[in-house]
Amino acid sequence: MTDTSTKLSEFEIISQYFVNQTPTNPAIYLGSGDDCALMKVPNDQVVAITTDTLIAGVHFPENTSPEDIGYKALAVNLSDLAAMGATPIGFTAALTLVDVDPQWLTAFSQGMMTLAKQYNIQLIGGDLTRSSIMSITITAHGFVSESQALYRHGAKPGDVIFVTGELGAAGLALRNQESYRPQPRIAAGLALRGLANSAIDVSDGLLQDLQHILVASKVGAAVNIDSLPLAAKLSQALPKAQAINLAANAGDDYELVFTVAPNKINALQQAMQNCGCKYTQIGEITPNPGLCLLDHQQQPYDLVLKGYDHFR
Ligand SMILES: [Mg+2]
Repeated sequence: MTDTSTKLSEFEIISQYFVNQTPTNPAIYLGSGDDCALMKVPNDQVVAITTDTLIAGVHFPENTSPEDIGYKALAVNLSDLAAMGATPIGFTAALTLVDVDPQWLTAFSQGMMTLAKQYNIQLIGGDLTRSSIMSITITAHGFVSESQALYRHGAKPGDVIFVTGELGAAGLALRNQESYRPQPRIAAGLALRGLANSAIDVSDGLLQDLQHILVASKVGAAVNIDSLPLAAKLSQALPKAQAINLAANAGDDYELVFTVAPNKINALQQAMQNCGCKYTQIGEITPNPGLCLLDHQQQPYDLVLKGYDHFR
């Protein structure tokens, strides 16, 4: 710790490293600086709220660059807003730091604010504490109309299952101890409003997250495992079976898995083309509960279901 850092109060740190760098969103009536922030919610919208904590040594290796930590902390929350079809508006950040290092804070703030500026999401409050383990909790807010929100419980038998982008890049990066910056699928989430019957983001692993849709919707699914869009790097780095396993089970890709009724697939194609988002058909929703994995010859595929579970 340097002499400069010890002289900075919590308030000074927050305003110096964060508030002064934040974009302003017109939906924020009052930002940080008072007891609460105030948001103006349009009449036909509801507020989507999500929160995620990242703990050093648990959710990212201790030696992760501060820029990457700042980026990821906000990205995982934006991914949840995307999965709900919400437009990002504002976020709060609660930081628990081991010490106050101006260089670290500058880089962390840069990583976070790069993304905040990209989506015009305003920092509307913060809290700073010290402890022996670093952790970052972000709570993000967005707007969506209740009739267009993308719920987990809306999947229907006959729906086609799709996933955006590619899978397994995050799992491979973790395995190789490389940095990985997921791109939250905000544009795709907005494009899916009124089209998708259900959606979720891939945070704990494709199959595990898809199971959340199946349970909430009281349906099953047949997934063609050979159709999973494997990240190019993944196919080059690993034998096929291992690559598929990583793509199906490793978390942190932050792509969207969603289901669409067959009569809306043309409209989907147009909407996804307009937002420039690649997407791939991976299966179908079935009436009976359970997840059935098939290969390209429609034969059962044996794969251990093992997504990320904090309590296992
Ligand atoms: Mg989620």
